[in-house]
Amino acid sequence: MAITSGHDLAGPRPRQTKRSVPLADASLTDKALEIHRRLCPVYGCPIPYFHSLDPLSELVSSLLSHRTRNAESGRAFKALRARYPDWADLVGAPVEEIEATISGVTWPELKAPRIRAVLAAVAERHGALSLDFLKEMEVDAARSWLEAIPGVGPKTSAAVLSFSLLRMPALPVDSHHHRVAQRTGLIGPKVDVGPSHPILRAQLPAEWSAQDLYDNHEILMLHGQAVCHHRNPACGKCVLLDICPTGQARERG
Ligand code: SF4
Repeated sequence: MAITSGHDLAGPRPRQTKRSVPLADASLTDKALEIHRRLCPVYGCPIPYFHSLDPLSELVSSLLSHRTRNAESGRAFKALRARYPDWADLVGAPVEEIEATISGVTWPELKAPRIRAVLAAVAERHGALSLDFLKEMEVDAARSWLEAIPGVGPKTSAAVLSFSLLRMPALPVDSHHHRVAQRTGLIGPKVDVGPSHPILRAQLPAEWSAQDLYDNHEILMLHGQAVCHHRNPACGKCVLLDICPTGQARERG
């Protein structure tokens, strides 16, 4: 997945209105639920949360993680925390120093100024360097608030709400999740990761809990990593083969 595309630096101010939600095709809703039903026992729902970070720290972690392996972004996060025990210290730090601290991640020269600018924007717009207040907002409004910050896209906003201690019902979509959704036909071949977020969320029940949506993201991501590989998907041993047009075409071919 590409680095989250940033808004123009003179971009939009926070939007507090409810987002327009795409109508889900009923057959795709059925398929999304069937995929969830089949993959859950394979990967062991409910899946334990892998992070217990406050939302501001989760935001930093998410910004570090783009196109970077988990081990590398985890090391960079720990290095940042060690150097800047208070995130306010990072906002006041030279960008070269931040870049050197996160040198193990992909594109540190882009991520260092971006992380500093995003944290500065949070402090300026909220009046404090914290995102705990998002807990009081509806999911759509909280995501819009975050995405109005230049450099914060749909995956990052959903990750902050879902993976952090906020534990809010939002659906992140990473590159593995996106690939499985595309190959199984949940989204069209030209739908990119960003625009896939509202489409895939609308296919799942509105009343699903944070854990349900987290499980859905995790099982599709894990399936993409373990079976539906980027280059050579193991369709012959996939539990989704009979409902996957890509897998069936590959098997016929
Ligand atoms: S059948 Fe093949 S292409 Fe379809 S989800 Fe399974 S591994 Fe991926």
